[in-house]
Amino acid sequence: MKTPELLNYARDEWTRGAGDLRAIPSAIDGSTIAATGSDGLDFAAMLAHARDVGGPALRKMTFHERAWMLKTLGLAIMERKEELYALNPHSGATRKDGWIDIDGGALTLLSYSSTGRKKLPDAHVLLDGEQEPLAKEPGFVGQHIMTPKQGAAVHINAFNFPVWGMLEKVAPTLLAGMPCIVKPATATAYLAEAAFRIMIETGVLPEGAVQLIVGGVGDLFEHLGGQDVVSFTGSAQTANKLKNHPTVLEESVTFVAEQDSLNASVLGPDAGPDSPEFTLFVDEVVREMTVKAGQKCTAIRRALVPEAQLDAVEKAMNERLSALTIGDPREKETQLGALVSCSQRDDVRAKIAELTRGGARIVYGDPDADVGTEGGAFITPCLLRADDPWSADAVHDVEAFGPVATIMPYKDVDDAIALANRGMGSLALSMFSHDEAAAATFVRGAAAFHGRMLVINRDNAKLSTGHGSPLPVLVHGGPGRAGGSEEMGGVRGLHHYMQRTAIQSTPAMIAAISGQYVAGAPKHESPVHPFRLKMSEMELGQTFFSKSRTVNLEDIERFARFTGDTFYAHMDEEAAKASPIFEGRVAHGYLILSFAAGLFVDPEPGPVLANTGIEDLKFLTPLYPGDSMRVEITVKSKSIKSEETGVVKWAVEIFNQDEELVATYTLLTENTP
Ligand code: NAP
Repeated sequence: MKTPELLNYARDEWTRGAGDLRAIPSAIDGSTIAATGSDGLDFAAMLAHARDVGGPALRKMTFHERAWMLKTLGLAIMERKEELYALNPHSGATRKDGWIDIDGGALTLLSYSSTGRKKLPDAHVLLDGEQEPLAKEPGFVGQHIMTPKQGAAVHINAFNFPVWGMLEKVAPTLLAGMPCIVKPATATAYLAEAAFRIMIETGVLPEGAVQLIVGGVGDLFEHLGGQDVVSFTGSAQTANKLKNHPTVLEESVTFVAEQDSLNASVLGPDAGPDSPEFTLFVDEVVREMTVKAGQKCTAIRRALVPEAQLDAVEKAMNERLSALTIGDPREKETQLGALVSCSQRDDVRAKIAELTRGGARIVYGDPDADVGTEGGAFITPCLLRADDPWSADAVHDVEAFGPVATIMPYKDVDDAIALANRGMGSLALSMFSHDEAAAATFVRGAAAFHGRMLVINRDNAKLSTGHGSPLPVLVHGGPGRAGGSEEMGGVRGLHHYMQRTAIQSTPAMIAAISGQYVAGAPKHESPVHPFRLKMSEMELGQTFFSKSRTVNLEDIERFARFTGDTFYAHMDEEAAKASPIFEGRVAHGYLILSFAAGLFVDPEPGPVLANTGIEDLKFLTPLYPGDSMRVEITVKSKSIKSEETGVVKWAVEIFNQDEELVATYTLLTENTP
């Protein structure tokens, strides 16, 4: 059978690399699974195409339009995922391993789609933080805004998660409104290319929005500029080389690095061999060693154990490891598949040798044992033990990117903190403890060195998403050795691909620039009650001005009797007067809110389906018996959740008879789009 040739996707054309292509071996038996190359591509023209065609097209779309596009991409991958699962075993991965990559990748797109529709405005500009008053009088304010960078995002990915690794970068980049050029690792580029092809075939991506390089990046780095972003995942060595590229330095190209990490897991000082935490810890360390054959940037490399428990942990882990079935990842019973390639296996063997020279000894497994299928990249899991972790420098420094972990003792919580932090910055750390005081001391002492931390125990283990799973809503990244960057984390993940700019002007100008209603901006009286409008018919800034009503003492007393809220400030004139806040009895805040609803609600069934909450409620001026109140309710933002429903946020302002603000809040309603 002819070897499948992978194609680049350059300037909206599928393009074969020129000349001889490079063979990619299957992890199962070393046979050639695909051939690939990118020679002959015009990398400068690809960057220009992204900047001149893809960027403008994406920037024309709102956050919501781009979010709907991500949904289509995610659903397409879900629908066609079996095409990817058919290729998955050649990367050495079992079906279970593939779930993290393939389903996990599609779910990341879907999660970002949801973040975009729920947390971002249906607009082109993101408001960052609150308005800052800059003058004594209202009318001159500061507001940070974020707009998409006008360059290209170059994504360079590691081999271990060819689908997820691509999509966890593509999702926030496209949602931010920036085009990208994806360069998967060669070893598993066939999976990335297949997933990329599914996305192109949906037809929803604008021209120039995405491009693919299945080979080297040629002279691409020479052509980078200050609006471009490089987002890299891989080894610290390659990261250092690329981030120190002269053009990256001279042009101040944003460089995001996710690199290797000596992640730790800690068995709490409270967790004896009979505790649930002991079993949970042993299971998790073994799981992290074996999922994806340990080729996970977040995998546990260092297992820190109270001195007294080290022998028991070693014994329990050996039992689990010896029960594993290693072999062809296509077989159902296989629990540990292969490494991605024989050269990766050689690298793991070399790193194990470094670890043993550096003060650790092997207590389970034989890296040189012949396991798995003929010609495949298999290795037995390898458990090491470092009895003196303070003299075994290598265990805190050498990353064997395979099914390898080292157990080591610690004396007390302070010692555990110092050992955990000796990895000089990691992506993920877990602690297995039911002792809140010990866990709190540990987390406070170690958090600055770790990007994500889990405290697992008998109360939450069943719900836990696991040590090694990065989640789209949480940050993925870590300080120091782990690269010093963050990816994902919901809306935070868009920030690398957007420029923050401080704008100083009137609220009206900020509203015009951002396309969003902001406090102090002009309001437009709605010709019909806005509760009668579908979301598509409403305009931001459209306002309903209510009539006014008086609040008298009888109202306050009735409300107090009815609700049981007889707080002194409403019921005791003398005590209220004696307080440093009130001049006498005042209306309940909740009474004011209830009267406000009575003033602005339009009662008949219609596009407003339900009141779903109130945000940022502030009571600013007390309302005394005999005072009157009126309400202005303004359309502030609209977010469409699905074809049936969306959320409208309303800026509500309540004034008294002297035009003083009594209360402000944001009302949330569920609406028909
Ligand atoms: P790598 O050798 O550094 O390669 C990473 C990527 O860089 C690949 O796409 C590679 O392409 C590319 N690359 C290499 N040299 C380049 C150059 N001169 N110019 C442009 N691109 C270049 O790392 P790896 O062996 O694939 O991945 C394993 C490492 O990644 C481990 O250390 C692991 O901890 C780390 N990792 C980190 C994370 C994280 O999120 N922090 C996630 C996964 C993996 P080719 O394949 O074509 O050489």
